[in-house]
Amino acid sequence: SIDNHQMGDQSPSHSDYSSGVDSTNYFQQCKYIHEVELVNMKLQMRILETHLETKDRLLRNLEDIIDEQETRIANMEDFIQGRTAEYTPSTVMLHGISALSIDFGALSEENLRLKEEMRTRMRKERINDLMEADEDYESDMTSVSGEGCESARNGTNEVMTQSAIVASKARAFIDEHQISRLKRCAEELKNEKDELKRLSQDMKDAFTVCMGEVRLLLESKTVDFFKVLMERYKAEMERRKTLHNQLVELNGNIRVFYRIRPLLSTRDQAAIRIDSMDEGVVHLEHSSGRKTSRSADFVIPTRFTQNQIFDKVSPIVTSCIDGYNVCIFAYGHTGSGKTYTMEGPSSDPGINQRAILQLFESAQERGRDIEYTIKLSMIEIYNDKIRDLLSPSSSSSSSLLLRRDESGHLSIPGLEGRIVNSPTDVENVLKEGSNSRVVAATDANENSSRSHVIVRVHVHAKNNVTGMTTIGRLNLVDLAGSERVSQTNATGQLLKEAQAINKSLSELGNVVFALRQGQKHVPFRNCVLTRMLEDSLQGDSKTLVLVHIAPEEAHVCESISSINFAEKIGQVQTKVNSAFKRAESVRKSSRIPGKLDSPQTTPKKTTK
Ligand code: ADP
Ligand code: MG
Repeated sequence: SIDNHQMGDQSPSHSDYSSGVDSTNYFQQCKYIHEVELVNMKLQMRILETHLETKDRLLRNLEDIIDEQETRIANMEDFIQGRTAEYTPSTVMLHGISALSIDFGALSEENLRLKEEMRTRMRKERINDLMEADEDYESDMTSVSGEGCESARNGTNEVMTQSAIVASKARAFIDEHQISRLKRCAEELKNEKDELKRLSQDMKDAFTVCMGEVRLLLESKTVDFFKVLMERYKAEMERRKTLHNQLVELNGNIRVFYRIRPLLSTRDQAAIRIDSMDEGVVHLEHSSGRKTSRSADFVIPTRFTQNQIFDKVSPIVTSCIDGYNVCIFAYGHTGSGKTYTMEGPSSDPGINQRAILQLFESAQERGRDIEYTIKLSMIEIYNDKIRDLLSPSSSSSSSLLLRRDESGHLSIPGLEGRIVNSPTDVENVLKEGSNSRVVAATDANENSSRSHVIVRVHVHAKNNVTGMTTIGRLNLVDLAGSERVSQTNATGQLLKEAQAINKSLSELGNVVFALRQGQKHVPFRNCVLTRMLEDSLQGDSKTLVLVHIAPEEAHVCESISSINFAEKIGQVQTKVNSAFKRAESVRKSSRIPGKLDSPQTTPKKTTK
């Protein structure tokens, strides 16, 4: 193979190469096998030798045994045949056997004893366990278990049974004790529970009694306190009214009353109501749900009849007899009840008729030395034009003019004046004027609520004793509706009308405001209405503005506008002293402020 490599044989035969290796291995393997076999054989030899040796030894032993047995047999034969006295080996064996049987008996006895002792111990342990379960009965347990242990120690089955009985008795005894103890505990707990129950009931009763007493005490105290408060409140209210009246008088005798007409339909909801405690306050609920309160000199209770209302007004009316000038204005939006207050239904006439009749009656009462002449005129102001309602020739086109006469007084030349001598005269004249207003309005396609109607009463008094004459003027004015006419949509006649009404009401507000504030300059000249009433408004004349309000929710906006007007003209300027100032500031602060719509009347001039 090596040669083959050296000869450059690039691909030596695999078989040649492997056969060379195989022969070497084979040789080596054979050699090993032989060697191993040799060793094996040697080993087998050794084993055989050992076997042989052992066999030899055994043979020798057997021979010895046989010899010995033969000797024994011989001996036994001798013994049996009586040749020898005793057979030594068998005697020894018998002795051994008897000794062993004795030992065996002792051992079994010992075992039994140990077994018994073990059982006793176990029982004892069990009793101990039971004893530990109830420490209170340890002594009982000890004695019982002691008994048990003692009897157990006897080590007989009978005793065992007895101890078991004793143990079960002990258990029963303990159980009984435990049960009776638990029963006692339960009884005690029940008693305690009953006691607590009784106590809680007693507490409850006592608490109820106490609370009743406290409630009674509180109630009586609260009622007393409330009474005192109410009295003080009323007293303060009276004081406020008195002070306010004094203030109004000091500022020129201008008063602002509210008249809230009743709801016309039961389906309607009232958004305005009068304070139940203070007749000078109205509460207004806005459509948003917000509530505000406003005050005036007086709020005529809704339940007041026409007659009751006139009772409130009559004192200033009668001052006309004494030569004072009086103006009564009915302000409010259309439908708020102005005409109802001033004219009223023929079955229940309003202020106009009642006032003239009152003047008539007063004149008759006083008429011994004084000669009274009562003259009536009725005027309508529409679009700033004066129309005579008592002149037969009066029509919507003709108008009168205001002139200042030689004495400096403003007069309306050509104005019809009717002297009235009886209540019937008064009624007839008023009816005539009212009718001609309606006719004139219909002729001109006007709405009768779009003009101001003035019933003017002249009370001429001539003192026959002194020869002095006085003239008192009473102006009863049913103003045009104060509602806003949308000027964006209005055109022509409607726009003119709306502008005239807005202007005249606004100027009237300014004039009343200025008078009430005691201002030096009063803007009478800005419109026909105020110019015509100039004489009757200034000086020591008396003015009453009746602001009419419809309580329905639907009229809330108009009502707010009217309330704003009343607020504006109702302000009082105090110049007298600081005490009055304080009183007024208290009155003002008692009003709940609320932002209302901007007033329809915006006075141009205000003073601090
Ligand atoms: P205005 O003159 O302000 O437009 P009216 O006087 O014509 O309002 O009143 C409108 C309606 O309300 C009328 O039907 C009138 O009878 C009624 N009314 C007004 N005030 C009262 C009142 N105090 N009691 C009963 N009805 C009234
Ligand atoms: Mg009217």
